[in-house]
Amino acid sequence: MREIERAEVVRRAREAGAHLISFFWCDNGGIIRGKSTHISGLESRLASGIGVTTAMQAMGDMDQLQVVDGMGPAGEFRLVPDPDTFTILPYAPKRALMLCDLIARSRKPWEACPRDFLKRMLTQAEHMGLRFQVAMESEWYLARKEGDKFVPCDESLDNSSVGMTFAQEVVDEIIEALEAQGIGIEQYHTEVGHGQHELSIRHAPALRAADNHIIYRETVRNVAYCHGMYASLAPKPFPEQAGNGCHIHFSGWDLEEKKNLFYDAQDADNISELAYHFIGGVMAHLPGLVALTCPSMNSYRRLSPGSWSTAFTCYGGDNREAALRIPSNFWGVEMASTNLEFRPSDNSSNPYIALGGLIAAGLDGIERELQPSTSQRVDVDPMRLTEEELARRDIHRLPTSLADATRELEQDMVLLDAMGPLLANSYLAIRHADWEIFSREDTEFEIKNHFYKY
Ligand code: GLU
Ligand code: MG
Repeated sequence: MREIERAEVVRRAREAGAHLISFFWCDNGGIIRGKSTHISGLESRLASGIGVTTAMQAMGDMDQLQVVDGMGPAGEFRLVPDPDTFTILPYAPKRALMLCDLIARSRKPWEACPRDFLKRMLTQAEHMGLRFQVAMESEWYLARKEGDKFVPCDESLDNSSVGMTFAQEVVDEIIEALEAQGIGIEQYHTEVGHGQHELSIRHAPALRAADNHIIYRETVRNVAYCHGMYASLAPKPFPEQAGNGCHIHFSGWDLEEKKNLFYDAQDADNISELAYHFIGGVMAHLPGLVALTCPSMNSYRRLSPGSWSTAFTCYGGDNREAALRIPSNFWGVEMASTNLEFRPSDNSSNPYIALGGLIAAGLDGIERELQPSTSQRVDVDPMRLTEEELARRDIHRLPTSLADATRELEQDMVLLDAMGPLLANSYLAIRHADWEIFSREDTEFEIKNHFYKY
């Protein structure tokens, strides 16, 4: 970080009266972790970072430490914050946060840094003349604690105005807090589940969108807590209710960011050849990719047919049961609004890894000029297709468990190579560790230990 940037961050923190500045990162289990510096040490910490044991990236969802070469009790990485991410926390005004790169002692990005993985994918895309705009569309529940049980804060229905009434104060404050942190709001509505909400935010360049998603998760959880509520962003916090998705909307633009290269007015869906190649790449890597976008045990309770969470290897126009949806674009702004939506994705993922993996898959499709198979295009609910028809059209179930998804990822050398050995090995180790613990326990244990983690 340059001296002038450091001075600016310190000035803003002092001006706001912040005394603690948290340096945050997201771990291999999708958990946001951090260490904070007092304002008096901020300037020097901005220059030197804060040291963290490398073992932190080898910890599972229950803090169970895994044996991973290159990570352990000996060795440190440094949390080095990106000055562009500095934000005073509206729900805790004496505090600020910054999002960090994990830097090795060599002062180069540490090989296991998730944020660097995404940056590397974005650089690769730029070499191919592409810049991505991304919006992560998150759903969550508002719950209260009764005894040691969480219960939804209301019994409202999908898009119901009644649900909007119940949650009005907390949602309004979340909106204000996001806007105060420079995050624009797109839409808001209640979702299918009791007490479930969807508040979507404006798209942004890919790295910023992943950063924004971390800030979003912090904001939703903290503002709800200030109102005596628990916001659960877990994939399936209530087994009997709808799951929480975090669908990824994305489009690929030219380097001047003037032309949406995913758009073609001539195509029936307004999708360009380049975008079809991207879809081809995503379809080719879908089973392994799901281990990056749906990485927790609880993720696979969500991914089931008939709940719009998606369960099959298919894509389709405006199809909410398709893993990849081609949303119809908006009247009057067709070029700007053309995008793709990746749906088997949830808030338990590390957004840098999820997005890095999605881009790695898509770029492979562009590089190899893959065409998505027309038989995998489904414009009806795939549940309406018979077993024979699904088989004939080469449409399969997405992985149905964390173990299955992990196995798929282990065989996907394109995704693993893109991540690099240290990130890939540690990531896989955590998936195995979580499967090991949770597959031995019951549903109650799984819910309890996912409900309030993300
Ligand atoms: N809740 C659904 C999911 O798990 C998505 C519902 C919707 O289409 O917004 O992804
Ligand atoms: Mg939704």
